[in-house]
Amino acid sequence: MRSGSAILSSLSRHRIISRFCHITSPQRPAAVLSPMATSEDSLRRALAEKQSTIDASGNAIRQLKSSGASKSEIDDAVKALNALKLEKTSIETQLKASISGDANGSVMSRDAFRQAVVNTLERRLFYIPSFKIYRGVAGLYDYGPPGCAVKSNVLAFWRQHFVLEEDMLEVDCPCVTPEVVLKASGHVDKFTDLMVKDEKTGTCYRADHLLKDHCKDKLEKDLTMSAEKAAELKHILAVLDDLSAEQLGAKIKEYGIVAPDTKNPLSDPYPFNLMFQTSIGPSGMSPGYMRPETAQGIFVNFKDLYYYNGNKLPFAAAQIGQAFRNEISPRQGLLRVREFTLAEIEHFVDPDDKSHPKYSEVSKLEFLMFPRDLQMSGQSAKKLCLGEAVSKGIVNNQTLAYFIGRVYLFLTRLGIDEERLRFRQHLPNEMAHYAADCWDAEIESSYGWIECVGIADRSAYDLRAHTDKSGVALVAQEKFAEPKEVEKLVITPIKKELGLAFKGNQKMVVEALEAMNEKEAMDMKAALESKGEVEFEVCTLQKTVTINKKMVTISKEKKKEHQRVFTPSVIEPSFGIGRIIYCLYEHSFYMRPSKAGDEQLNVFRFPPLVAPIKCTVFPLVQNQQYEEVAKNISRSLTAAGISNKKDITGTSIGKRYARTDELGVPFAVTVDSTSSVTIRERDSKDQIRVSVDEVAAVVKEVSEGKSTWADILKKYPAHTSASADE
Ligand code: AMP
Repeated sequence: MRSGSAILSSLSRHRIISRFCHITSPQRPAAVLSPMATSEDSLRRALAEKQSTIDASGNAIRQLKSSGASKSEIDDAVKALNALKLEKTSIETQLKASISGDANGSVMSRDAFRQAVVNTLERRLFYIPSFKIYRGVAGLYDYGPPGCAVKSNVLAFWRQHFVLEEDMLEVDCPCVTPEVVLKASGHVDKFTDLMVKDEKTGTCYRADHLLKDHCKDKLEKDLTMSAEKAAELKHILAVLDDLSAEQLGAKIKEYGIVAPDTKNPLSDPYPFNLMFQTSIGPSGMSPGYMRPETAQGIFVNFKDLYYYNGNKLPFAAAQIGQAFRNEISPRQGLLRVREFTLAEIEHFVDPDDKSHPKYSEVSKLEFLMFPRDLQMSGQSAKKLCLGEAVSKGIVNNQTLAYFIGRVYLFLTRLGIDEERLRFRQHLPNEMAHYAADCWDAEIESSYGWIECVGIADRSAYDLRAHTDKSGVALVAQEKFAEPKEVEKLVITPIKKELGLAFKGNQKMVVEALEAMNEKEAMDMKAALESKGEVEFEVCTLQKTVTINKKMVTISKEKKKEHQRVFTPSVIEPSFGIGRIIYCLYEHSFYMRPSKAGDEQLNVFRFPPLVAPIKCTVFPLVQNQQYEEVAKNISRSLTAAGISNKKDITGTSIGKRYARTDELGVPFAVTVDSTSSVTIRERDSKDQIRVSVDEVAAVVKEVSEGKSTWADILKKYPAHTSASADE
């Protein structure tokens, strides 16, 4: 039997979810095999077959030699063997390409592509490793000028798309959070990752990362591995999140994994709490933590926000702010960091009515979805119509689907490639027991598919947990037009008897009894009636106590009610802004040859909405008159609210274009006369001629998406000077 507090202690939130839903045998199949993985399997088989044919041919040649066969016979056999070896080399090359993702004739490997992106980002100060002059700190990054501008554009669009268009209540709560709040939410006890230590040096590693690295490394480098062994390692990669400490430890031992830096043996995995602890005030008596997410700030304000909203449901509150997680060994650059910006929405809804008034606006959308059954049967994500996914029961309810659709629109409008965006449903093991349904928006990058937004129907869990801990009822009411007769569960703990039996623990036993749900209470009633007493688990006491007939009465009574009081469900989209931005960088990056063909020029094809600077202005040649015109245009752009940059350095026009392309600036104005100028679009490199007075209006129109570049091209004469481009 579960007490109210038991529900609390078995909670899980976000990462807690996967860590604490231990399973004894991972149920995910050799799942999530992409077509690429399938061809990898057949290549591994082909390689093994080729090797055995080569071995057989080698043996045959040796036999020919020992049996004194003719020279020409032996030469023919050697020739055939060499041909087989060549075929083997070709399969090896294909297999290597398939593993590293260079298949399909792509010019660059994933690693080389990532390196090119990261080099450009660091060189142009999109981001900088924090505290670099002191050799930096892993998992901490600064955003430099263009990075700040991109982030502020992404957040402005987030506010527009969600807070304004959905009429959400925005709040801004402190990062420093008292312990009691995070105790109630479960973070103090359960927000952990499993860690192992180098037994000699004490260096810490994330246990699942070491196992992941081992499996990936073997899959990439051991080309002679059998297809069966490869399938086993892939299966481990697929169920990694679900492995318990014991399972992880066992695999680490089985595969002989040692500390990567020293090759020393490793400890058994044990949980490490990811929160940064602090103390509030000078006494040291008031423990606190840097918040690991922004959501709790919203939950604890529910009562006031509900009142502010006129005591009406549904409504959503939103918050953008820093979150802190003391990641064990952060890797993957901006994707896994120790301090990051979260943008979270908590949409509160009646659990009995999860319809959404604007559902029809998204129900026709079609995009890549990866429901549970496709994952379990080893298939790939498929394009599905959101409305059909709801009507077939794949997505639990309309409100959850509405947010999935809105997240899709948000990400694709930012510039995320829709072919590299999928919505993956959590497997049953990944979800907390109280969650109704969860989907992650995953974006494919050079690191693989990355969870960037989590969208979860968390039912009433969070508000209940804070109600229990704070004693403040975080509930909503529905007033009935006519009073209704309802049957109500009444649990009355007999405090005198409980006090005699449990003394100082009486309060916790009372709370646990009162927190029973209907089924639990009726089961207890039946047991008390048949046996006179029953064993009852009180989680806050961490023990089971005996409850007898005299200690509690449980009944169902008919009552007239004027209103219904209930704990709202919450649907929570949670956006990792840094991850979205990094994926956007990768999806926007490309290289094109310079005009001379002697170098590769880097370009970020940011949509104007996200571009850090919308327009550059430069005189074609150094000349005072042109510089004056450039200054005036820049002033008029600024007055129109368009971020712009003047470049009067006098370097060649090609170099100046290359510099702005690297920053992803979509438009460049070149002043080559005092009356009219050219505007060049970054990706097409098309140019038009526009009078000086019109420049700001044209750039504003196209930057703000009121017209497309194609519309503008129709209105203004094309400019075709050869000198103007690189
Ligand atoms: P979670 O609360 O764990 O579901 O995380 C919410 C979102 O925060 C995820 O979808 C990620 O986009 C982002 N996130 C989580 N952990 C990190 C991290 N260490 N660094 C950057 N982003 C993160």
